[in-house]
Amino acid sequence: QHMTTAQIRQSFLDFFAKQHHQVVPSSSLVPGNDATLLFTNAGMVQFKDVFLGAEKRPYNRATSSQRCVRAGGKHNDLENVGYTARHHTFFEMLGNFSFGDYFKQDAIKFAWSFLTDVIKLPKEKLLVTVYHTDEEAYDIWANQVGVPAERIIRIDTSDNFWSMGDTGPCGPCSEIFFDHGEHIWGGPPGSPEEDGDRFIEIWNLVFMQYNRHADGTMEPLPNQSVDTGMGLERISAIMQGVHSNYEIDLFQALIKATAAVTGAQDLEDKSLRVVADHIRSCAFLIADGVMPSNEGRGYVLRRIIRRAVRHGNKLGAQGAFFHKLVGALAEQMGEAYPELIKQQAIIEKVLRIEEEQFGKTLDRGLAILEENLAGLEGDVIPGDLVFKLYDTYGFPADLTADVARERFMTIDERGFKAAMEAQRKQAQQAGKFGADYNEQLKSEKVTDFKGYDAIQYSGTVV
Ligand code: ATP
Ligand code: MG
Ligand code: MG
Ligand code: MG
Repeated sequence: QHMTTAQIRQSFLDFFAKQHHQVVPSSSLVPGNDATLLFTNAGMVQFKDVFLGAEKRPYNRATSSQRCVRAGGKHNDLENVGYTARHHTFFEMLGNFSFGDYFKQDAIKFAWSFLTDVIKLPKEKLLVTVYHTDEEAYDIWANQVGVPAERIIRIDTSDNFWSMGDTGPCGPCSEIFFDHGEHIWGGPPGSPEEDGDRFIEIWNLVFMQYNRHADGTMEPLPNQSVDTGMGLERISAIMQGVHSNYEIDLFQALIKATAAVTGAQDLEDKSLRVVADHIRSCAFLIADGVMPSNEGRGYVLRRIIRRAVRHGNKLGAQGAFFHKLVGALAEQMGEAYPELIKQQAIIEKVLRIEEEQFGKTLDRGLAILEENLAGLEGDVIPGDLVFKLYDTYGFPADLTADVARERFMTIDERGFKAAMEAQRKQAQQAGKFGADYNEQLKSEKVTDFKGYDAIQYSGTVV
């Protein structure tokens, strides 16, 4: 049956609440308990200390719909956006968690029951993977759930073995895939064509079974735990009978809004998907207190915004357009995330300032790039040019790489880094391209925004 994204989110939380899970709100995209992590990239992040036993909660089962960003850092899907049907920079991860309570058997049964009884996915379209040595999980799938042997795949790579770090909790995973049909290119997990989009991974069940010591030995954890994550947009695609996440209700609305503000005619244009993706991560990052800057989290945000601006430019946008999408996003997601509506004005303002700032140099930089490409031999853009675009025109290296990829070219990343290092050693030209938000917003008399105390604005150059 057809279900909206909002209905799926609710039915997931209701299902696990009925199984005695505490419904826990999504935490911020800026992890509160981990300075080494760029952004919250999974549902388990806010529970890390609970899994480690360092924090006690009044419940041992939890469920959540967690906003996640995978751009920059260890999990980086920025380069996948626009190229796969299933990756976003921002997405929502549905999850259920057991803190030393239930283990593999219940985790697998809950997952199967939700997929096949609650949202009624056809069993024959589901495949599961287990870690190659995990006989326990294999046995549960084969003999208790009754999945035919040909649809249980043993995987021997780290894709099916999770660990928090070099030491500490770790254990095997079991993943569930959905077959979108043979008309789509791709092969089952573990096959050479697994990166295609025919068999799409929907749910990862992580069994925290061992504690790994510095010498590599693994000892069973006294309290074995479960962490699962399922991509909401991927389930929406299935429930709405479409293949790509970008065809679901929410994204279609954002794509139409993007076409309207840029003047794009072709609704299939890849750049529309990129912009529709990027407005979500940018707006939610700003709502969570991240400001564009030249380092750390703020620089990732700046890079995403500039990428969106470049794609909008490709679509034919005249002047600043990106901030005009915040309203459409709030319309789609404001009910689930009221902070989006509350902060709409400030998000728009920050995006507009950033767009205007970059808009001044974008055309010039693109022209320089074209000129240089015309005379270029080979398919690698030299590091010096990548650096010049970065330093003089505000093109982050990944933006130049994005342009390069559209022409089946790459950038010389090492040469770029070397040029940057040489520059760093020379002089600090602080604030050359960074807009000073504190000053600009103050002069524009923003009165309804109280967030700056909590925000560390950094004006230094990388
Ligand atoms: P993939 O192999 O497709 O990149 P993954 O193995 O990196 O996914 P996990 O880290 O296992 O993903 O995250 C759990 C679930 O979150 C995935 O099964 C998927 O449904 C969803 N998910 C992961 N990355 C993204 C993304 N970039 N956009 C949307 N959903 C995602
Ligand atoms: Mg991935
Ligand atoms: Mg995977
Ligand atoms: Mg996975």
